[in-house]
Amino acid sequence: MKILIVENPRPLTLEHYNDVANAPLSASLNSGYALAIAGRAGWEGAYLDLSDCRDDEAMMAEMILAEQADMILIHWVYAWGNEHVQRNILQILEKDRRAAIGAFGLFPSFAYQPLSDFAPQLDFILVGEFEATLDELLSNYPAKRTIVSMPGLYRSCSEFVRRELIPDLSSLPVPDDTGTNCKYPTMNIAIGRGCYGDCGFCFINRYYGCSKRRERSIASFAHELENRLKRRPVNSIYFVDPTFIGRDEKQTGRVLEISSILKYNGLPFGFETRVDTIDQELIGKLADNGASSVFLGIESGCEATLKRINKRISRDQIKGAVRSVQNSGIFLSVGFIMFEPDSTMSELVENYGLLEELGLLMHHDQTVNMLYHSQIVLYGSRAWFGFADQGRLILDERLPFEAGYRFLHADVARVCHAMRTLSREYFRMMDRLYRTQGIASSDQFACCHARTPPGVDGDKLNRTLKEAFQAFLRQAGMRDVRQFNALERMFLDELRSCFQR
Ligand code: SF4
Repeated sequence: MKILIVENPRPLTLEHYNDVANAPLSASLNSGYALAIAGRAGWEGAYLDLSDCRDDEAMMAEMILAEQADMILIHWVYAWGNEHVQRNILQILEKDRRAAIGAFGLFPSFAYQPLSDFAPQLDFILVGEFEATLDELLSNYPAKRTIVSMPGLYRSCSEFVRRELIPDLSSLPVPDDTGTNCKYPTMNIAIGRGCYGDCGFCFINRYYGCSKRRERSIASFAHELENRLKRRPVNSIYFVDPTFIGRDEKQTGRVLEISSILKYNGLPFGFETRVDTIDQELIGKLADNGASSVFLGIESGCEATLKRINKRISRDQIKGAVRSVQNSGIFLSVGFIMFEPDSTMSELVENYGLLEELGLLMHHDQTVNMLYHSQIVLYGSRAWFGFADQGRLILDERLPFEAGYRFLHADVARVCHAMRTLSREYFRMMDRLYRTQGIASSDQFACCHARTPPGVDGDKLNRTLKEAFQAFLRQAGMRDVRQFNALERMFLDELRSCFQR
């Protein structure tokens, strides 16, 4: 029996150039785990990555059919309104139906009911942590060649029952190395799953069905590392865990042991972790063992906002964690939601003040990210239902799985809109520059995080973004709309002038 894992087409759009919330980093291992589960169940596995494919839908359907698989499993990542592309492919496949077709991943887990209405060609959807369900499905399917009900598997014709989480993550097979990840010399790996946090905007816990962080054994991590390093050249590791460090006392020993294994292999590494797990001494030791980058989701510089989003950290903890990382010499990147839906103007001022104080507005690439992000609302998230209850959800029939929302304060909405327009122009200009320099869109993210490309006045660009934000804040209360629009146009021109023609 043969299973084909397909990455759905997900064209990069400028509107969502840097919106990473359509799937957490851990999703980058989903297809690799699915293939490994299939191999262990005795199935032949094949992989087709259509994520960047620009062929027409008929051609993509042809590529799928050419694999002559018994089962097609789509790793369906939310595609910012381009879901119809995958649906059109399914409609073509329907005419030449040989295989059972299913979907899995974060987006199908949230939206399994509407997705099944949207794409009725799907025979099943694997909801939440999928490996145990897929294992059972592949073991049963060859005998009867029908999809039967089981926990974790949704079919529109039967009642859905959630599956228990895998009790021991060390029992998972070593994931295959697949897809875009393999183009990069950095290898993604997970030493655990889930998070003990409960942030209101986050998708992680909804996917796993609880606020719990589970760890695998260090021996299983070492085994995976050894196996995967034999497959391709790798010069660094990135831990895709939502929080690399946990919160109990044994964490220090655990992460130091893991980092020592990497040090022994000569591999620097990066990770994401919660602010409240950062300890100056520990971070120094991790730096000694090769930690080279850390991502901290600080999200806000304002106590009231931190409370509203249930971040469970304080402004002082943020300052302490950021300074600890900065003192360690490890490269720091941070996640920040400048425009939380209930923000007030004074909270935006507070946010900006903290970012300046911590030196997080020093480079245009970082500044643009700090000053424009607002909350993203996908179907099935807590925010979707919360805004719906409050009558603040803004639906658009062209985007069945994503919604806008009404800000509580009109002047905040105005600043947010102005910064979004400016940042889109920033990404458009960067994209154009990279294209003229022959850098593919899929490589731009890595490139633009590394340096200012030739042809850009980086200092002026950074200054323009910061001045624009402050000017919009000062003028947002203006009654004269034309005057505010003129201000927006002025900063757009200023931003364009930072790029050589
Ligand atoms: S700390 Fe990060 S991963 Fe954990 S719940 Fe909050 S946003 Fe999600």
